[in-house]
Amino acid sequence: HPFRQARFLTSANRIDQLPADRGAEVAFAGRSNAGKSSALNAICDQQTLARTSKTPGRTQLLNVFPVGDEAHRLIDLPGYGYAKVPEAMRLHWRGVIDRYLRERESLKGLVLVMDSRHPLKDFDRDMLAFGAASGRPCHCLLTKSDKLSRSEGARTLAAVRKTLAQEFPNAGAQLFSSHAKTGLDEARGVVGRWLGL
Ligand code: GDP
Repeated sequence: HPFRQARFLTSANRIDQLPADRGAEVAFAGRSNAGKSSALNAICDQQTLARTSKTPGRTQLLNVFPVGDEAHRLIDLPGYGYAKVPEAMRLHWRGVIDRYLRERESLKGLVLVMDSRHPLKDFDRDMLAFGAASGRPCHCLLTKSDKLSRSEGARTLAAVRKTLAQEFPNAGAQLFSSHAKTGLDEARGVVGRWLGL
């Protein structure tokens, strides 16, 4: 799969520090601790591509990961909602993310990482509403599914899909586990299609 070629290019603190708005981009969003860094690493089959929450540093920035050439990119959006970040910083990031989502023409779709035990929180609904408003597709990774029994997982997936069908019909969902490595091919398929890979 092409995601093995993903590499870290740059961290942007502002929109104007991002690469030129050409080609195709897929953004990964999620509340802090949802498992977003782990999901990026699992999808790309790399241990240390995205830094997990335990490693401070890049987490408050937009991190850019080209897949192969720079015309195809994964964007790691800063997670927030859980971490104890100062209110001023939260507001700054809220503004940066809002602007990124509204203005970025190369953004083809949004991957929303949610802890499968706590899906569809306010932050997630905001992201899904953005996707619906902008006509961009969303794909929800219900991660840490290894923490659920098989039947709990199936029930969670069905419930999330039902809500999405009613409220956010441009969004899909799947079970995912970075630890158990389940759902990787399905996620790669969706992201790869959006990127045109
Ligand atoms: P982020 O803040 O969204 O980037 O979350 P991280 O990827 O740093 O993960 C947050 C915590 O959840 C870490 O302690 C991870 O080890 C744990 N975690 C992430 N993915 C999984 C998973 O698939 N299964 C389990 N059981 N734990 C996970």
